[in-house]
Order: sequence, then C-alpha cells, then structure tokens
Amino acid sequence: MNLLETPIEYLKGVGPKRAKVLKKELNIYQFDQLLTHFPFRYVDRSRFYTIADIQSDTTYIQLKGRIISILKIGKPRSERLVAMLQDETGIIELVWFKGVKWMLGKLKLQEEYVVFGKPTIFNNKFNIPHPEIEPAAEHQADLGEKLQPFYPSTEKLKSRGLDSKGISKIMKTLLLQVQGVIPETISNDLLDKLKLLPREDALVNIHFPKSQELLEKSRARLKFEELFFIQLNLLKLKLLRIEKINGFKFSVVGEYFNRFYEHNLPFQLTNAQKRVIKEIRADVGGGKQMNRLLQGDVGSGKTLVALMTMLIAIDNGFQACLMAPTEILAKQHFHTISEMIKGLGIHMHLLTGSTKTPTRKKLHHELQEGTLQILIGTHALIEDKVIFKNLGFVVIDEQHRFGVAQRARLWKKNTIPPHVLVMTATPIPRTLAMTLYGDLEVSVIDELPPGRKAIKTAHFYDKDRLKVFGFLKKQIKQGRQIYVVYPLINESEKLDLKHLMDGYESISRAFPLPEYAISMVHGQMKTQDKDYEMQRFVKGETQILIATTVIEVGVDVPNATVMVIENAERFGLSQLHQLRGRVGRGADQAFCLLMTKDKLTNDGRQRIKTMIQTTDGFEIAEADLRLRGPGDLQGTQQSGILDLKIADIIKDEKILKTARSLAATILNEDPHLQLEKNLPILEGLKALRKNKPNWSLIS
Ligand code: ADP
Ligand code: MG
Repeated sequence: MNLLETPIEYLKGVGPKRAKVLKKELNIYQFDQLLTHFPFRYVDRSRFYTIADIQSDTTYIQLKGRIISILKIGKPRSERLVAMLQDETGIIELVWFKGVKWMLGKLKLQEEYVVFGKPTIFNNKFNIPHPEIEPAAEHQADLGEKLQPFYPSTEKLKSRGLDSKGISKIMKTLLLQVQGVIPETISNDLLDKLKLLPREDALVNIHFPKSQELLEKSRARLKFEELFFIQLNLLKLKLLRIEKINGFKFSVVGEYFNRFYEHNLPFQLTNAQKRVIKEIRADVGGGKQMNRLLQGDVGSGKTLVALMTMLIAIDNGFQACLMAPTEILAKQHFHTISEMIKGLGIHMHLLTGSTKTPTRKKLHHELQEGTLQILIGTHALIEDKVIFKNLGFVVIDEQHRFGVAQRARLWKKNTIPPHVLVMTATPIPRTLAMTLYGDLEVSVIDELPPGRKAIKTAHFYDKDRLKVFGFLKKQIKQGRQIYVVYPLINESEKLDLKHLMDGYESISRAFPLPEYAISMVHGQMKTQDKDYEMQRFVKGETQILIATTVIEVGVDVPNATVMVIENAERFGLSQLHQLRGRVGRGADQAFCLLMTKDKLTNDGRQRIKTMIQTTDGFEIAEADLRLRGPGDLQGTQQSGILDLKIADIIKDEKILKTARSLAATILNEDPHLQLEKNLPILEGLKALRKNKPNWSLIS
C-alpha cells in the first residue's frame, strides 16, 4: 500500500481517539490529508520584541527578559501564579492558572528567559497567560525553526491535545516518516519553466519553513499545484465529453422554429440573443453533446433563447424540458411560454411538486408516448418516475440553485445524454466561472433589449419613510405597480414573518382601501394562496406586492416600476441586483429604493454605494466577490470545488490564469497524459480524484 494512504490512526502520536476527531473535525482520514492541513500563519521566533512594543492588536510576541518576582496568589484550588518579567523597556506579568505548582518549581528568580505568548489586557494592563517559556541559555538550540507554524484547530481537537502545537507535533512526526516518498505531481518541464520548488521541499517548508524565502516559494508552488489540478481536471472532463459522448444531431431548423420566428416573435431579437442562438445551433447541429452555460444579466431575455432552442429540438423530433428552482418561477415560465407559442400546436405541460396525481399520471403517460413535447417544471422533473420517450434538450434556469448531482440526473434521462443549456442571471466573475464551470462552453448575453431606461437607484434611511410613501403614491397615481421586499433576518421563520406582517400593517395604514389594494406573498403560505396573491398583482388588481425574497427570481411584471427593498443592508450585492432586476422591464422609468437603518457597517455602506453606482451585473459580481470572498457567493458552497486549501481565487488570479493556460497546453499536446514526462501529472490527478468524488462529475 502507498504509505501516504495509511490511515491516520497509525501515525505515531495519533491513535484511535485522536483519529476520530481528526476525521470528524478536519476530514483527515489518512496521511496525505494531514499533509495538506496547512498552517494559517507563522510567527517569527528568530526575532525578539520588547515589552514596550506590545500594542492592543499584538497577537503572538517573543520577549527576552529577567524574572524579577514570583508570586502565588489566591486560595488553593483557584490559585494562580504571577511572575514579573522585566526587559530594558518595561515590566509585564506572566500568569499561570494551571500547573501552578510545576511552574513554581521551574522558574528561577533573576534568571533570563525567552518568553513567547499572546498578550491580553486585564485590569487595563497587559499580561501574558500561559506563555511558552525557556531559559535564554537553552534557547539557542532551536535554531532550525525560526518560523513557527500556527494551525487551524477546533475546541474538540484541542480537548484531545490537538491545538496548534499538538498538530505541529504530529506533523513533524509525519514529515519524518514520509520524507523521501512524497511523489512529485508536476512534470520536470513545468517545474523548470515556472521555477517551482519540488513538491516534497514545498510540503516540508510550508509546515516548517527554514526561511521566509523558502516559505514564499513553497506557497507559490502549492498554490499553483492546487489551481493547476482543478483546471486540468475540468479541461480533461470537457475533453472526455467531447471525445466520448456523442450527442443528438439536430440537423434541421424546421416548421416550429420558423413559424414562431415569422408569426409569434413579439419583438426583434437583440444581437446578443441572435449570436447565442447561433452558438447553440452550431453545437446541437454538430453531433456532439452540448453542455453550455448561458450567462445574461436579469432582464436580458434568456427565456426567449431557451424557448427558441427548445423549438429546434422538437423540430427534430425530440422532446425538451425546462427546469426552474422554484414553483413560482416554473409557473411564470409556463405562462409566458404558453402565450408565446399560441397557435403553433405544441403540446406543453407543467410539472411541479403540487401537480395532482391524476394529472401526473396522464403526464407520465404522454411523456413516454412522446406526445408531450415540452415539459416545464421544478425538481419534480428529475424524479425517476419521469421518463421521456426521447428527451433531446434540457434547459436549467438559475442553475446555481441546483447541485451538480441534480444536473447529472437529467443527463440520464435518455440513452444518449441530451443537450444541456444551463442559464444564470447571477453573473459570475471570470476567474470564478473558470473554476466553477471550467468544463462548460460559455455564452454571454451582454446586451439588454432596446428601450430599457437605466433603473434609478436611491438610498433612504428609515426615518425618511414618509417621503418614500409620498413618492410611491405618485407612481401609483400614474398607474404603476410597486414591489416591497423584506429580507429573511432572523433564523426563526416566525420572527421573519412578524417582521413582514409589521411592514404590511404600516403600509396598509399608509395605503388604505379602497383607494389602494395590496398583495402579500411569503414562504410560509400555501401554494394556492401564493398563486392567488401573485396573480392579483400580475393582473393589476393590486398596486403593491409585499414579499419576502420568494420573488427574487423570475417574476416578470412589466408594469411594476418601483422596487422598495427594506433592510437593504441585510442583503448581499448579487441578491440586491437580482431584486432590482424585477423592475425596469417595461418602457417606463423604473426605480429601486434601498431602505436602511441609520447606522450602517462599512460593508453595508459599500454595498449600497455599489448599487447606486452601477447597474452592470458583472461589475456588481466582481464587487461582491471582493467584499464577501468566494465562499459566500451563491451556488459555490455545494460545488465543493472552492474548498481551496491554500490558493485564493481573487488574490491568486494570475496564478489561476497561468494554471489554466498551461493545463490547456498540456492537454492539447497530450490529451490522455500518456507521455513519459506527464506521468507525474497523471498520477497526481488520479490521487486527487480518489479524494474528491465530486471531481469526476461533469457540471
Ligand atoms: P431573463 O434573462 O432575466 O430571464 P427574460 O427572459 O425574463 O429575462 O426577459 C425579460 C423581459 O424582456 C421579458 O419581458 C421579455 O419578454 C423581454 N424581452 C426578451 N427579449 C426581448 C427583445 N429582444 N426585445 C424586447 N424585449 C425582450
Ligand atoms: Mg429568467
């Protein structure tokens, strides 16, 4: 067996009990996984500071000084030991609450010590609780480790002695044991070209750096490696797909498409829409399976592209389906598309969680017969019971709401996988897209339909509410409709609901019947009630729709011109952008009013500012990424791809780009990594895939 795959309990100093917490807390099951548990920072133990250097933000510090007093204080059982350390700049207390007796026997008055620890403030004075301490005379011995690693740990690990120091100890044992057998995973070619440290050196020095310079080099090597293999994996999957998986060939553009284009298309396509439809046609006509991501800002007209490409599928005798993340959105699609295809004689139906059994049975039957041509719905579509006669084209709207595994199930709905178009209105910064969807082809709709006026965005404090209400009344007088959205604030749904109800009450008072009518929808309502309320608003029977974020995606009411976002400071940028995209769909000037409390955090202020400054989804996505980091972006959690150990998608953008382009070059020359020189890379990829089951799934 490969030594690096040895179960972690067999490492000296670990054993079954510690192994259990390592598995549970850090997902460390075997040697190589511990090896990539990297320190999050290092403290320079070769440098001495003085007591006067200590500031309130000082973390760890190393001092050298003389012990000038030793005192035991307090009652037995709760006693503590206080020693005064003096250097040429001042005096500081060292405190022990545990092991008092032992320390008392060890410390010597007037001796010089090297002290290392984390100062805290107590009674307006600094002290250092439980410092590491050793006689200065002995300190010299430790020259080998100047930069001391600090490891992430947890309470549970600490209770088993695996605090940073404990981890550092077993790491040292591990390194001694595996040195010499750590395989290189990058070809000599690349190592030379990029002047990268060999893998073993990098791993040794990331844990126990011999110098700052070696630490930097180790970091660079390991970051490159991490990003390189992600890209290599994605590009290889893509290659495999193109090579191995045949796709249905949609050779004609026929009756349905043409009649739709000539008689039903309600407006001119934008150039971007035309371009994207062409890209998709080229894919589906080529005999290879398409797997394409369509990015387009809210309101850019993705639905139409989805529809027209589905028409090509049915023109070629295939069935098509469209999956949306929520029932509201699925219904909305169903209604818009039904309107658009009127008179074409297409048989289309809706399938959601609340479709009644008799209807469901009928649907299942028609799907298997092949008489049902287009199916629109929610997750209900991927259930095993749903069997198509000949599914050829799949559209997934707001794909970031679905996991890779869910998408994979749609692939299996036919003997040859159908073509897949995934759509997203949450623009993804390029670097992130490269990593999350690196195995997909990408199309972008970068143009809004003509005649849209830029939405005016303004910020109001809660105290200006009357002014805002006045403005809303004017808009209503002009025949416009208004959304008022509340965030989910509390973990508890009950409290959120109360918040919404309070809002409803105050708005009802300001906009009384019979002059005004108000709809309300929230997550806890029954589907029928939600529908009823939504429909009243869609039909124009109510002027105000009060909602939680259930309306975030997909709702399309062109007459709605004002979006009021309550507690706007609580929303993330991309969510604010999505919400704002609900208005400005007609020809009238639209407004987005961001309501906040008086005091904002820096982050909150920055988000509001960004919203006012730009309506460009990509700009907003970049700002969001900078403000929040990639981990919090929608849809990234379930992917697991972004569980990066050392690299950072934003800060290491340059390395990422190099990694991707080199991975592409290598695969271009050697698609199956069969060349002698690429053998280490192949082995490296295999080892990684073993550890990451998600890696062999195609997005
Ligand atoms: P999204 O990309 O956010 O899904 P939709 O597909 O819902 O956008 O389209 C937004 C609105 O723009 C809809 O009302 C749609 O009918 C309209 N629309 C789409 N394409 C065009 C176009 N080429 N010209 C004018 N209006 C369009
Ligand atoms: Mg949409």
